[in-house]
Amino acid sequence: MADESIALSENTCLMEWIDTHTHLFLDAFDADRDQVIQRAQQAGVRYMLLPNIDENSLQALYTCEQAYADCCKPMMGLHPCSVHHEVNAQLQVIQQQLDERDFIAVGEIGLDYYWDLTYRTQQLEAFRTQLHWAGECHLPVSIHSRSAIDDCIQEIKKIQKGQLFGVFHCFTGTKEQAQQIIDLGFALGIGGVITFAKSDALRQVISQIPLQHLVLETDAPYLAPVPFRGKRNESCWIPHIAHTLASLFQLDDAEIARITTANALRIFAGLSKG
Ligand SMILES: [Zn+2]
Repeated sequence: MADESIALSENTCLMEWIDTHTHLFLDAFDADRDQVIQRAQQAGVRYMLLPNIDENSLQALYTCEQAYADCCKPMMGLHPCSVHHEVNAQLQVIQQQLDERDFIAVGEIGLDYYWDLTYRTQQLEAFRTQLHWAGECHLPVSIHSRSAIDDCIQEIKKIQKGQLFGVFHCFTGTKEQAQQIIDLGFALGIGGVITFAKSDALRQVISQIPLQHLVLETDAPYLAPVPFRGKRNESCWIPHIAHTLASLFQLDDAEIARITTANALRIFAGLSKG
């Protein structure tokens, strides 16, 4: 009995996770960011990838990176929900950042027709422009799509010549959409939604996708997995998301850790370069 418990805890220690999408730099974490990082590391989360929001979040993003440089890796991009009538000026700020230094990815970028359609044209312009930058910089992209997944797929299809790759973050689409995304060379980001009671259809879709196309994410502070639904999400709960995947694929949690971490390292190759 004692031996068995030692073996289990060793097994847990060996598991290494990557949270491919967390907004740890937002003020939701200002009061206890140290502890949040500590809990993540205790849970085996080695890297937390930080998608930028817009020109106003740069300071917080860089401050978070500086404080936790070993584990927090920033992306650079303009979120579709931040796009407004001065999109060109907004993009100029983002481009300047990309010109000045290295990032782990371009993100988050995409299309969001759920909240507001006012700047749909500008959203499309921002998405196309940033996809081109990602291609030029040989960087992966973290894609946000809400009520717009087919348009996101179409936009990528139009310009994909093998230079674009990355993750459709928080994927909640159909089997057909998943297949198109994989055919385009992209992976699916799996987060807390997969654990929700009402996500049977999503679980059914994901159970048919080869694991090599999946990466884990929290989208913290949003979308906390069961049994923490409704609370502020954080990276230490990645294993709860993984556990749902493990039951779907009838594998153990360690195997999910091994495969999804390898997938993330393959996509976000900058992580291996230190
Ligand atoms: Zn996000």
